[in-house]
Amino acid sequence: ALILALESSCDDSAAALVTSDRQILAQAVVGQNEAHRPFGGVVPEIAARAHVEILPGLVRQVLADADVVVSDIDAIAATAGPGLIGGVMVGLMAGKGLSLATGKPLVAVNHLEGHALSPRLVDADLDFPYLLLLASGGHCQLLEVRGIGEYRRLATTIDDAAGEAFDKAAKLLGLGYPGGPAIEALAAEGDAKAVPLPRPLLGSKEPHFSFAGLKAAVQRVVASGDHRPEDIAASFQQAVVDCFVDRTRRALEVSDAPSLVVAGGVAANRSVRTALEALAAEHGRAFAVPPGWLCTDNAAMIGWAGAERFALGLTDGLETPARARWPLDPEGDKVRGAGV
Ligand code: ATP
Ligand code: FE
Repeated sequence: ALILALESSCDDSAAALVTSDRQILAQAVVGQNEAHRPFGGVVPEIAARAHVEILPGLVRQVLADADVVVSDIDAIAATAGPGLIGGVMVGLMAGKGLSLATGKPLVAVNHLEGHALSPRLVDADLDFPYLLLLASGGHCQLLEVRGIGEYRRLATTIDDAAGEAFDKAAKLLGLGYPGGPAIEALAAEGDAKAVPLPRPLLGSKEPHFSFAGLKAAVQRVVASGDHRPEDIAASFQQAVVDCFVDRTRRALEVSDAPSLVVAGGVAANRSVRTALEALAAEHGRAFAVPPGWLCTDNAAMIGWAGAERFALGLTDGLETPARARWPLDPEGDKVRGAGV
């Protein structure tokens, strides 16, 4: 099947054409960094308006790039949440409009399921179940992925998301947004042992995450002026990696899933990838991580999640709501400070 996909849940507008046999016929992502930079973070209203301006051109572009006409498409996949509600509404309404105009079914995709299934787009051998570390701008969770729409959450962050921690640390260091790539680049010049920083929740029984205390520590270190920025960046990155490894090791002790997978924007980080690959090997598990471009927001992963759902007959009606919050697991809304 051929899926046309739209993504608009944060500050990236994206469209893609993906097939159920794992071909990406075309994809395009337009970031909005310039529009938000003067404000030092994503402004929801500006993001929503930018999606309105950018998305129609992206749809035309991917169709032209792949030499496909709308009648060739089998289904329209659009992110229906979670995310900034204005942007989600823009993409979902565009998807509904395309569905209505073409008569092709709509697949309303959970953005987190897009991240969660993204490694399967590039790895045909990655079967369910797998243990997933989902580390993104808005989330930090450990989930057992048992199938499409079947998630068991083992842990979440009790305060900030992992990507949010990178973004806040970058802001404190005077680096641009998004902070993750900037921290990673600066960290390459620094000494990860130079600055003592906390590893919140290290060793605790439940594999939850916490990054607020780490951010506060970075704030103090930056204010003290005692350390070089590259050493702070390297030490911060190492602290996050140590938390990931410790918490994921705990989850591996309680999950017998044969594979470990990392996805979400923070999975683009090379130190994160290397450390978790080593952890998987240590525990005799297979390891998968999508290529960097598939870790950060894109529409190919939405198209792939759409293809997986469409193959199971899971399509959605035009009454499907846009959702600002949409946990992957049924218990999601009940967990303290859910980070969802
Ligand atoms: P969510 O998926 O939770 O709704 P989001 O879609 O905004 O949030 P993603 O696009 O999945 O988040 O990930 C973006 C986050 O990943 C940002 O916080 C960014 O700083 C972080 N990130 C991107 N690249 C890197 C990197 N190389 N190292 C560390 N963090 C990174
Ligand atoms: Fe995302």
